[in-house]
Amino acid sequence: EDEGNPKLGHVAPGSVSRFRELTADDAMGRPMKKKLRVWCRRHDDHWESGQIKSNSGEKALVLLLDGSAVTVPTQDLLPANPHILDEVDDLAQLSYLNEPSVLHNLQYRYSQDIIYSKAGPVLLAVNPFKSVQMYGDDIVTAYRKNLLDSPHVYATADAAYKAMIADEENQSIIISGESGAGKTETAKIAMQYLAALGGGGDVIESKIMQTSCILEAFGNAKTARNNNSSRFGKLIEIHFSAAGKICGAKIQTCKHASNGQSRVIQLAPGERSYHIFYQLCSGAPSGLRGRLRLRVASEYNYLNQSECLEIPNIDDAQKFHDLMGALDSIRICKEDQEHAFEMVAAVLWLGNISFLVTDNQKHIEVVSDEAVTNAAALMGCIEQDLILTLSTRRVRAGKDEVTKSLTLEQAIATRDALAKFIYVSLFDWLVEKINLSLSKGKDNMGCSVSILDMCGFESLKKNSFEQFCINYANERLQQHLNQHLVKHEQEEYELDGIDWKKVDFEDNQECIDLFEKKPIGLMPILDELSNLPKATDLTFSAKLKHHLSNNPCFQGERGGTFRIRHHAGEVLYDTEKFLEKNRDPIHSEIIELLASCTGRLPQSFAPQLKQSQSLDSASVQSGMPVCKKQSVATAFKGQLVKLIQHLESTKQYFICCIRPNSKQIPGAFEKDIALEQLRCCGILQVVRISKSGYPAQMTHQEFIRRYVSLLGETKDCQDPLSLSIAILQKFGILPEMYQVGYTKLYFRKGQIDVLEDVRKQV
Ligand code: ATP
Ligand code: MG
Repeated sequence: EDEGNPKLGHVAPGSVSRFRELTADDAMGRPMKKKLRVWCRRHDDHWESGQIKSNSGEKALVLLLDGSAVTVPTQDLLPANPHILDEVDDLAQLSYLNEPSVLHNLQYRYSQDIIYSKAGPVLLAVNPFKSVQMYGDDIVTAYRKNLLDSPHVYATADAAYKAMIADEENQSIIISGESGAGKTETAKIAMQYLAALGGGGDVIESKIMQTSCILEAFGNAKTARNNNSSRFGKLIEIHFSAAGKICGAKIQTCKHASNGQSRVIQLAPGERSYHIFYQLCSGAPSGLRGRLRLRVASEYNYLNQSECLEIPNIDDAQKFHDLMGALDSIRICKEDQEHAFEMVAAVLWLGNISFLVTDNQKHIEVVSDEAVTNAAALMGCIEQDLILTLSTRRVRAGKDEVTKSLTLEQAIATRDALAKFIYVSLFDWLVEKINLSLSKGKDNMGCSVSILDMCGFESLKKNSFEQFCINYANERLQQHLNQHLVKHEQEEYELDGIDWKKVDFEDNQECIDLFEKKPIGLMPILDELSNLPKATDLTFSAKLKHHLSNNPCFQGERGGTFRIRHHAGEVLYDTEKFLEKNRDPIHSEIIELLASCTGRLPQSFAPQLKQSQSLDSASVQSGMPVCKKQSVATAFKGQLVKLIQHLESTKQYFICCIRPNSKQIPGAFEKDIALEQLRCCGILQVVRISKSGYPAQMTHQEFIRRYVSLLGETKDCQDPLSLSIAILQKFGILPEMYQVGYTKLYFRKGQIDVLEDVRKQV
């Protein structure tokens, strides 16, 4: 092929693929020598270390570490790395890159509290579940001055900061990993480093750090997997001035609409609602307690149902104190703070409102007790209005409107919808306040570093619409990572005509198509049925089965359930409430009620909705007027696409967090759990490409402009390609260390440094 291409006529003969790494796959096909250290598969993904005693070709006798000897088929053997490589910083340095070797390396490092490693371009962070001595001012300084260069979040943040200054280009750090893997902590550590480097002694950087405390109070909760689980995705864009000092920040969140916030009203056993509820109940000072008519958490139905009110080793009262400090520091005035707490308390009291069934089960009445009185008082509405909203609905009958009493079920749904709507609006209001407080000043000539902390992939016992959205987001992010680190890189090599043995990777396009493809993807079908008043969750699941059963990522199951084969594993979804959650209907009565409130916040929640959503008189369900708007899934997808577009316009760094055990305990490294996560981020493929790939690339023109002076005299007639080759030869860059493409030169790691050293000396 090369000969047919005149442009490649000058390629140095050796540059064609002499340099190829031995991969695990290669190694399996080779006869394994006696005495070789190997990994020996005992069952499934369980590998033990051993040494080959003898080898017949098909089978080998292996001496295991415990002294026993076993005979195994040679395909159950993988070469192990020499001990000297036990501790390498970068998995790309391993001579044999296979799963047991990678796990051994990470576990060995983890046992010494070295939680960070590189996997080629990706930083791996294994959650220590304890405080490790690797943060703080001295270590920040060491990284800043390049005295330390071992893998660390600081090193990643440092690279981003320095590249931003040098190239005047926006940067972003993308943090991925399962729930509980450490994304949010990692994001904070990165922010800390940037605040230290870009701090100008101004208050802005400490304000930015304080936002985490606020957003975690209102947006995080204890789940089965993580005591401080983020229930929303967050992108924080930190702006720097031309002088490299922090001058502002902007937070974008990615979360479900109010109907998805079922955590506010319903809890699984052992889980908690958002931290703020418990913090307020145990930490509010007595004056505030009185004004909010607060009780202890156990007296609120929304909180006591899960029989989990506390988190081990967490002092909610202290956290509330910290929260007030944080609110002060970002200059949310005391009055606004109090308004925000009023809304939190109102939600709690709403949950205690109960109903009486009268009139042969046909009608309900709101029980007139302190719950309804307190809720109305905190919202600032007339008690009777609240009662009417919760118990009746206006229905169109011809030209007239009549008032109809709600059933018990409808009344409870209305109460819960109001509570969720208030809470979601409060969260949005807070984010807006924070953004106002952090908005960049005049001195905004510089660039930004963004940090993305999404909610991780989830597979619970029962998975609903929320998991559907979160897992879709993770699928998109994984695709983004694949494309960035694996696909684009390889496509570029191929397009530019260099010799390249393709590394396979799991493309998840099929799964993304399953979600997005029009008109028969999960989301289009969901939206279509959400617009049909008569459709139910069961017709939805039947339609999915009918149209999607050919898709290998989809499997219809019994009842209203279906299964999706995600890149991170299979998840069984239950379609119960899918349509309703996707419609997220908000009754016009609720909006009118909020608009009638004297409180500043509830009022501000109401018109917001009126602007963006017109009242829809063609009622969707059972003749109830609701507001029509973009579906939740579509809106969520829109937010996500916007986020990813932002990332694509920046230079990107990837951090992959690993949860080493499912019990949130320090010291335990469970290989199968870690392996699942490494596989799901495609870490081995990424390392393989980085090992055999060409991290430095330059167009021929760029290369010549930069280095032609090193040649001394040149003949004018020489074409760019021969000039390039001449430079490379003169400075002893071995042919296997670079490749020549149509448009660019591709270099192995470290090669450009050689030329740069020479250039600097000239
Ligand atoms: P989710 O997707 O549920 O939000 P997450 O990936 O954001 O999960 P984190 O909340 O960051 O997970 O981490 C879970 C817990 O692990 C933290 O509360 C903390 O106890 C511990 N942890 C994570 N990273 C570190 C670290 N670098 N040092 C010490 N502890 C850590
Ligand atoms: Mg988190």
